[in-house]
Amino acid sequence: MKKSAHQIWKEAKEQNLSKKEFKQLLLKEKVIMKTIKKVEIEPVFVEFVPKIIEENKLYISEEYNSAVHNCLCGCGLLTVTPLGGGKNWDLVKHSDGKVSLIGSVGNYNFPCKSHYIITRNIANFC
Ligand SMILES: [Zn+2]
Repeated sequence: MKKSAHQIWKEAKEQNLSKKEFKQLLLKEKVIMKTIKKVEIEPVFVEFVPKIIEENKLYISEEYNSAVHNCLCGCGLLTVTPLGGGKNWDLVKHSDGKVSLIGSVGNYNFPCKSHYIITRNIANFC
């Protein structure tokens, strides 16, 4: 029988698990179905965003202060992150060519409700 989230929470408490371990347990017991934890992305610097957005690529237009990608959970819905700090996201270009987005990406309007942070070309799901 499938365990409930509450049961797992009780177990996690008994075993003194961290929040992260608890979440892993939820994933393991398939209480939550999101199996993706990390996705590597490739930054692509463009002036204009192309019509076809390839999976796992982050298109960055510095001219227009914007970045777009398809949701990295695999659902592929177009995700737009305006850049420039403040209420928007900030782009960090590392010396090794990798990029980070300051500010997490929360696709709460999408059915997948994905939430992740892109750090050095890796999207870490929360
Ligand atoms: Zn998604």
